[in-house]
Amino acid sequence: MKRTHTCGQLAKKEIGKKVVLQGWVDTVRSYGELVFIDLRDRYGKTQLVFSNESKKALEVANQFRREYVVEIEGVVSARKLGTEKKDWPTGEIEVVCEKAEILNVAEVPPLEIDDRALANEDVRLKYRYLDLRRPTMQHNIIFRHAVLQAIRRYMHDNKFLEIETPMLIRSTPEGARDYIVPSRVNPGKAYSLPQSPQLYKQILMVAGFDRYFQIARCLRDEDLRADRQPEFTQLDVEMSFPSEEDIYNLGDGLMKYVFHETMGTDLKIPFPRITYAESMEKFGCDKPDLRFGLELAEVTDLLKKSDFEVFKNASTIKCLNAVGCGNFTKGDLAKLTDLAKVYKAKGLVTIKIAGGKMESNVAKYISDSLQKELIKKTNAKDGDLLLLVADNFKITNAALAALRNDLGKRLNLYDPKDFKFCWIVDFPLFEWNEDEEKWDAAHHMFTMPKKEHLKYLQTDKGKVHAQCYDMVLNGVEIASGSIRIHRADIQEQVMKALGIEKADAEKKFGFLLEAFKYGAPPHGGFAPGIDRLIALMLGIPGGDIREVMAFPKNKSAECPMDGCPTVPDEKTLKELNMKFMVEKK
Ligand code: ASP
Repeated sequence: MKRTHTCGQLAKKEIGKKVVLQGWVDTVRSYGELVFIDLRDRYGKTQLVFSNESKKALEVANQFRREYVVEIEGVVSARKLGTEKKDWPTGEIEVVCEKAEILNVAEVPPLEIDDRALANEDVRLKYRYLDLRRPTMQHNIIFRHAVLQAIRRYMHDNKFLEIETPMLIRSTPEGARDYIVPSRVNPGKAYSLPQSPQLYKQILMVAGFDRYFQIARCLRDEDLRADRQPEFTQLDVEMSFPSEEDIYNLGDGLMKYVFHETMGTDLKIPFPRITYAESMEKFGCDKPDLRFGLELAEVTDLLKKSDFEVFKNASTIKCLNAVGCGNFTKGDLAKLTDLAKVYKAKGLVTIKIAGGKMESNVAKYISDSLQKELIKKTNAKDGDLLLLVADNFKITNAALAALRNDLGKRLNLYDPKDFKFCWIVDFPLFEWNEDEEKWDAAHHMFTMPKKEHLKYLQTDKGKVHAQCYDMVLNGVEIASGSIRIHRADIQEQVMKALGIEKADAEKKFGFLLEAFKYGAPPHGGFAPGIDRLIALMLGIPGGDIREVMAFPKNKSAECPMDGCPTVPDEKTLKELNMKFMVEKK
């Protein structure tokens, strides 16, 4: 027998109709001669009623247990007055059953198929198929589908071709470690799994495809966080002959379309563009949450004139005016100080403003006229609280950016359902790696330096800016991209600036340099992270991307459901000419 309807479909207009439904038993309320079942599938729930009028069916229904898969035949009837369920699309009807069959039994589920009772993470991931039956997870995954379809439509309508690139590749560096796949037919050799399709999409431009996109899986072996998984999905985009402006317009239009299609939200475009320097100055970071103000004030020159040793010795002093927080308790201030210390600040100077003056144990080191200047610069009023960090550029900004985000949330300064996008533009090409004492590519090494900065490539790397941009949503980096280097000579210079020797560059990226010899067009692109985007759209707490992925890994990069990673068997290892140096069970 075929189902005639889904469990989310029947309404008043079907009253009197004979129907067949199939699905999972969500709840059983049995009163012996009268049994109520909520039958569930992806589309919703429908109430079934079994009574003495169909004795055989009642007998079968009395054997139903939670999560049994069943089939029923019955007639749609109006629910009794007062028993309707207003929040269910099927809440005005029930199906009075005449036949029933158990299609499959189920053991008692080890977790509740219910959003109110969340099991711990490993149980959820071990029994992911049950966890995925929960209404929230069904909604998240179905919403993800809607986003992916909207993306595909938009890209197709804008003449982008969907082209797949290989998973077994040489190596595409994006700043993480590669996952490696040993080759059986090439003993002693291995493939890398792509950290992104970066080099392939660039080569597709050399091949003349002009506009490419792919819903691409990226694999990066790095430490996991709530918004990081070993595998994640990007909308990977590349186009030929673009200006930066073309990419911003594409990104703006894409987000506007996707939000409108999937949530009915109208985003205002163009999204603001903020230079990296301005973002660092005002927000202390390159991913500002623009849903609220609380901008930082640069007060280095001002406070260097004070008598406070900490200020005198610091290279960067910045101040955040926590408006109206003058009533914070000692405990509150200690919490803020602890947060600043997480970001390596040695301390946090807190100053309350009252009667137009500063109340703080450092006030005595700051002359009246400096106090006035500081109050003016930070726009402070009575009842405000000034938070100051004095350290190097990196630490001062990182600590205050974290405090700003913390206060924004704690003081409810924004509507969590608001979406504020921006582009951060004009990034430096290189960033100094303090641990290894070397310059790294700030984005990746295929990013085009600003033309006017090419002359500093070998002499003054800190001065070189890049044709590079990030898209940021609510304080989260959603996409990165750049105009690429399309000339072998510039690519070689950038590799040299990064300390990659010519022979090494030739070995690792010779194929790209070779491709550039045969008429590579200017090109550029970007890649929004789909998992992060969807987690933000759905307002998932902490932006946890596992909530929008069907089969994520746990925090130790394991899958509790299938038990991977596993120890390969001897035969496989032998075929691959491999031996593990660590024995693990
Ligand atoms: N491949 C880059 C990344 O994964 C994105 C891009 O530059 O298009 O961040």
